[in-house]
Amino acid sequence: MVWSGWLSKSQIIQFLTCPYSWYLAKIRKVKQKYVEALENGKEVHKALENVYIGKEQFESKYEILEELKKHKRFYAFKEQFENFSDLASQYTLKRPLFREYKIIDKNNKMRAIIDRIDRIENELYVVEYKWSSQWPWTHFELSLYASLLENKWHTPIRKGTVFYLTDNTIEMIEITNTMKNDAIKTTNNVRNEIYKKLKDDKFEKRTGVWCENCPYKEVCLRQ
Ligand code: SF4
Repeated sequence: MVWSGWLSKSQIIQFLTCPYSWYLAKIRKVKQKYVEALENGKEVHKALENVYIGKEQFESKYEILEELKKHKRFYAFKEQFENFSDLASQYTLKRPLFREYKIIDKNNKMRAIIDRIDRIENELYVVEYKWSSQWPWTHFELSLYASLLENKWHTPIRKGTVFYLTDNTIEMIEITNTMKNDAIKTTNNVRNEIYKKLKDDKFEKRTGVWCENCPYKEVCLRQ
């Protein structure tokens, strides 16, 4: 089977969570089923990206909330939007340096889209928005992004921030060189593991709580 070898952060997490789901998505190219939780996450991300359009700086969290109230499904995501305005005011009211920043790293064969990048007191931060603090991959994601961004910008990235939109908490971490190297190592290990599984034509199913929101559940259950 032919595979380009290119990976994204989402693919790495998908493979490590369930190799069979990665196989259905990337090799069998099975069409994803609609999963409400995933679509809600995408919609909220988009709204948070757009809230800064035309704004250099907000004056208060109330001003951010007023912008978010313009969203057509404001009441569906009221909790997350209110929490976001609260968390942003604790962090920075300035517009991010970049939103949805794309990286294509040919050396590492990696594609990435970073939710936002901020500069605060001359330090660069890679930033992710997460629905819940139960998500176990945030440190890996921030470390990987920091490493890819360093390669691209040739400048040190040592800080990461996560907004947990449902828990109403913000986490700010130091990203060490070890964390960045480990993230790249994980990426390379996953790529090697995929090649091995392609050769053996064997991708195992790994069941768990994540199956509930798996867009390939129906296909998986049939086989
Ligand atoms: S339903 Fe579960 S086991 Fe099946 S592909 Fe999805 S994540 Fe894997």
